[in-house]
Amino acid sequence: MKLGIFGGTFDPVHYGHLVLADTCRLQLSLDQVRLVPAGAPPHKTDMAITDAHTRADMLKLAVSGYPEFVVDRREIRRTGKSFTVSTLTDFRNEFPDAELFFLMGADSLRDIPTWKEPERIAQLATIVAVNRPGLPELTQPQVVKWIGEDLANVVETVTMPGTDVSATDLRSRVRNGAGLRFLVPRAVEAYIDQHRVYS
Ligand code: ATP
Repeated sequence: MKLGIFGGTFDPVHYGHLVLADTCRLQLSLDQVRLVPAGAPPHKTDMAITDAHTRADMLKLAVSGYPEFVVDRREIRRTGKSFTVSTLTDFRNEFPDAELFFLMGADSLRDIPTWKEPERIAQLATIVAVNRPGLPELTQPQVVKWIGEDLANVVETVTMPGTDVSATDLRSRVRNGAGLRFLVPRAVEAYIDQHRVYS
């Protein structure tokens, strides 16, 4: 089985995330994509982050009715910081025969050298990088510049329809009263309204 693993803060999940996950599913023929909300993201320690189960519940609403997408709460259940290398080791042990693909946007790819054990991450799963508006195109020289030749040689790139949405912008839209119409699935929009998640 080909298993996609897509981690993020998802605060909140939006169409950028969903189009990324589905484009990878189609282009790489993934049987399933696990969406893994971070419990305590190591690189976002200085920010106030929404309760992890609230973020996971929004994800669940977003993918409801799409059986290839599964919300996986393993990073939330684990206490302490969520390191990708530990999460992927977990998946490797749980699915010894699966081919693992770790999906990410271009900004995450650029940051990988600052993560714990990037080389080990690349051994555990194929790193799949996807274009993101506002970042350079993912050409081979660009990828080499960001992450060095050794890692760049094992990265796969996938191109999705550019979706210029970020969770940071969405949170400020809610605070400013602009709402999230057509930027997140309707059920997520309704949940955020009802529970006043970002107000
Ligand atoms: P924030 O604005 O709070 O930093 P974000 O919108 O970047 O959030 P994250 O949950 O941090 O969302 O991102 C999870 C993953 O999704 C990352 O790998 C990121 O690169 C990717 N991603 C997020 N938004 C997009 C987008 N619009 N296009 C492509 N990739 C995206």
